[in-house]
Amino acid sequence: MVEQKNDFTQWYLDTVQKAELMSYSPVRGSIIFRPDGYELWEHIQEEFNKFLRNEGIRNAYFPMLIPKHFFMKEADHIEGFAPELPWVTEVGDEKLEEPLALRPTSETMIGSAFSDWINSYRDLPYEINQWANVFRWEKKTLPFLRTSEFLWQEGHTAHQDEADARTRTLSVLDEYARLCEEFLAIPVYKGQKTPSERFAGAVDTYSVEAMMQDGKAVQAGTSHYMGTKFAEAFDITYLNKENKHVHAHTTSWGVSTRLLGSVIMTHGDEKGLILPPTIAAHQVVLMPVGPWKKNPAIMEKLDDIYAELKALGIRVRLDDSDNSPGYKFNEWELKGACIRIECGPRDLENGHVMLKVRDLAEKEKVSFETLIENIQANLTAMTPRLLANAKARNKENEHFHINTLDELKAHIEKCKAENTPTGFVLVGWDGTDETEAKIKEETGFTTRNIPFEVPMEKATDIVTGEPAKHTLWIARAY
Ligand code: AMP
Repeated sequence: MVEQKNDFTQWYLDTVQKAELMSYSPVRGSIIFRPDGYELWEHIQEEFNKFLRNEGIRNAYFPMLIPKHFFMKEADHIEGFAPELPWVTEVGDEKLEEPLALRPTSETMIGSAFSDWINSYRDLPYEINQWANVFRWEKKTLPFLRTSEFLWQEGHTAHQDEADARTRTLSVLDEYARLCEEFLAIPVYKGQKTPSERFAGAVDTYSVEAMMQDGKAVQAGTSHYMGTKFAEAFDITYLNKENKHVHAHTTSWGVSTRLLGSVIMTHGDEKGLILPPTIAAHQVVLMPVGPWKKNPAIMEKLDDIYAELKALGIRVRLDDSDNSPGYKFNEWELKGACIRIECGPRDLENGHVMLKVRDLAEKEKVSFETLIENIQANLTAMTPRLLANAKARNKENEHFHINTLDELKAHIEKCKAENTPTGFVLVGWDGTDETEAKIKEETGFTTRNIPFEVPMEKATDIVTGEPAKHTLWIARAY
């Protein structure tokens, strides 16, 4: 396997395949989610469904094929998505009367349904989520992080007024931040997207951005306030308390299987995956070691431990294959098993096992009496520890004192010479598209977001030197 420190992207590509998370499909940019990869997504679904249920947001399912005229109704939306849309144009050898798009997102389909379902202020807010696959024919793809077909949730809500819609937009962003940090141990930067990075058709787009170990950014999730634009295009009106027909205010928001790539790039090491126990498919692996086949009591003991862990809902595996211990250690480390338990004849005799936590350096001796408690405590402690480590690493890769394009270029050169991450750079921005374009053209950095919590105000635009209107995070991004 290529070393992470030499070629991070290649390390990632090797790891996701060797750890059996994904395989390539015959179609460029679309991937097969193998069971160990798909299970990560299932745990994210379970966690996010809790939020939805708490908020009274119901899951529904809408068709994947969207008639062309739906797209034509909102001009910015079609303009934004047109280059990435795959179309169904014929069935058998007959041409369809109207081409059907494979959905890239469902504002149009759901907007049209909302128009039928929403009549009075009593119907609002109307809040729906869908778990689905979507298609965006991306030019550059990378497993999980950017694929032509991906899985996601998309929430769509309609409200009586702007304030209510904006509250929903931001409450979901908060939930995305919580999901990333507490559940996936990925620290995020919350903020607003610049107009050029807005979702096609949105009034405002907000994002949570994450920093990978190589300092590059991933847009982990987005939440959009649409104003009444989609309501106007799809005739989502309601009778208000004053008996007038008015347009609803809508929102949409999504996280995708990109989160899997983000978890892997945030925590993995040279040995392979490190996964927070919250999502790991393999939380505990039990393995007999030494001449265990001659000593059936070892397997009996491990069988008991296995049953006990399983009854507690812990995702436990028993590796009684003939592979050597070294081989087994490597394999389970590659796959990101959180805890490894070894038991050999001498361990059994002395009433203990050897326990190794994936992200800690040392093995520990644990007695049979305290084993279950110890495993539970280790599983609980691991996720916050991974988050704390990632936060500390991010701090080292945040840069606050770069004020001009020349200084940014010098920073990039220095990082290249020293093989260190270029990280997130906080800069001043005069609010123009030209500045963003110039930064991208000359350095490959793109604007991530205007942070809600500005760590330090910047006085001047990084390109023009004019007074800054905003302070921005910029970074190279996946
Ligand atoms: P959007 O509808 O463009 O706001 O996208 C919602 C979320 O989907 C983004 O924040 C990304 O996390 C994710 N996403 C967008 N494009 C892709 C892609 N090609 N592959 C995987 N995830 C994506």
